[in-house]
Amino acid sequence: MSAAQKFVNKIDSGTIHEASDALETGQISSLELCQNLIGRHDDIDGKINGFLSLDTSQILEDANASDARRKNGKQLSRYDGIPIAIKDNLSVKGQTCGCASKILEGFISPYNATVINNLQKNGVICFGRTNMDEFAMGSTTEFSAYKKTSNPWDINRVPGGSSGGSAAVVSSGQALAALGSDTGGSIRQPASFCGVVGLKPTYGRVSRYGLVAFASSLDQIGPITRDVKDAAILLELISGRDELDSTSLPNSDFNHHEVGNDFDVSSLRIGIPKEFLEIDGLSSEVNDAFEKSISVFRSRGCDIVDVKLPSIAYAVSSYYIIATAEASSNLSRFDGIRYGNRIDRTSDLLDIYLDTRENGFGEEVKRRILLGTYVLSSGYYDAYYLRAQKIRTLIRDDFNNAFNNCDLILSPVSPVSAYPFGSVSDPLQMYLSDIYTIPVNLVGNCAISVPASFDGDGMPIGIQLIGNSMDEIRLLQAAHWFEFANEMEKNDEV
Ligand code: GLN
Repeated sequence: MSAAQKFVNKIDSGTIHEASDALETGQISSLELCQNLIGRHDDIDGKINGFLSLDTSQILEDANASDARRKNGKQLSRYDGIPIAIKDNLSVKGQTCGCASKILEGFISPYNATVINNLQKNGVICFGRTNMDEFAMGSTTEFSAYKKTSNPWDINRVPGGSSGGSAAVVSSGQALAALGSDTGGSIRQPASFCGVVGLKPTYGRVSRYGLVAFASSLDQIGPITRDVKDAAILLELISGRDELDSTSLPNSDFNHHEVGNDFDVSSLRIGIPKEFLEIDGLSSEVNDAFEKSISVFRSRGCDIVDVKLPSIAYAVSSYYIIATAEASSNLSRFDGIRYGNRIDRTSDLLDIYLDTRENGFGEEVKRRILLGTYVLSSGYYDAYYLRAQKIRTLIRDDFNNAFNNCDLILSPVSPVSAYPFGSVSDPLQMYLSDIYTIPVNLVGNCAISVPASFDGDGMPIGIQLIGNSMDEIRLLQAAHWFEFANEMEKNDEV
């Protein structure tokens, strides 16, 4: 068997760093890599429905161009020719960017998001657009206006959301890695449901320029990958200060080499918030996975300490006030005039706005616009929006206090593992399941979901590590360590 064939056979579980090594040593070309992923897509995406589109001729053209650069010793980086799948809410010049919404049908991005520029500067190839909940609002990808993405571990179950397409294509071997966005958990929760790694960087670490805004004070772009090392590599590629995003932080460059193998886990203090264990609806299987993860850290000499996050009780309600308020304002630009679809049955401007929005937005998006408009309206602003912002400050104080006593916080990602389609139909019940991920967006810290265990039906369960603001190095080091230690523990059990 040729070296290229060997790597290709590994693609189901291949990573960016393995592919990059194989490209560097000439074991495989970018063309072979992309062709094989496209082949995998053709074989299985009819069942998974992770991609909304895959422009194969553009991908093969980009792969050929990358191979030519490498042949001439002109590769742009170690990652030249690596394909990465892109969530449908990120602008790639010349491609559709629809946020899985009918209102943006046919819209073509006139410019690149900064993260896309950063990837392309390194020769990375944009590999298809992944399905999502419309405008990133949801937890199952069932709110896509186009199709339902299946969980590759059981196609009758949801992949999580809103970046469910990104998680599913990585998990099913159709992409080495993907970009997603996380406003309240949309990278971490689908990663946990699909058995892959999902990183939400610190707010401001990665430029949001060119990400279609859902809730601007909470949104952050991040990687969904097969292992922690790849998450660090992708973070290095996409992070950094950007003049085009006024909230982007100085000194936000990241170097994945800082995430080494020689991490001394015994000096780590891991905080466990007792409030997280008292959450209604926490399944016993997720609880077991969480307890087991604590014992993995403890058994290697790590200090496990109790921390308090008393204001967490109000996190979900504050999030659904702040996020909907910001969404109602951000989505007001979609009026049928400047972007995508327009319904112009009459020439009356107001009718055009109303008809376009009535027909273009799905039910969940409308629910959020209405909620957001309500909490911002005069008379209710003080009662809802202002109070939610005050609670946000209390939650930030809680986290600051907690991080005085620990280095990282460990928690579940979601109270449950992936469930069958349609089984959560009450929006409020779905909102409540974001309890472990939402607080991190409210305070702007970084967090990662790493595969930890499986439930009784064989569905994956992830565990969340939360780091202080800009503490990605420690976060990723501990996650990288956990990935190995947990694997060893599992092997010991067998
Ligand atoms: N599930 C959350 C929501 O529906 C989070 C979404 C996200 O992070 N984009 O708002």
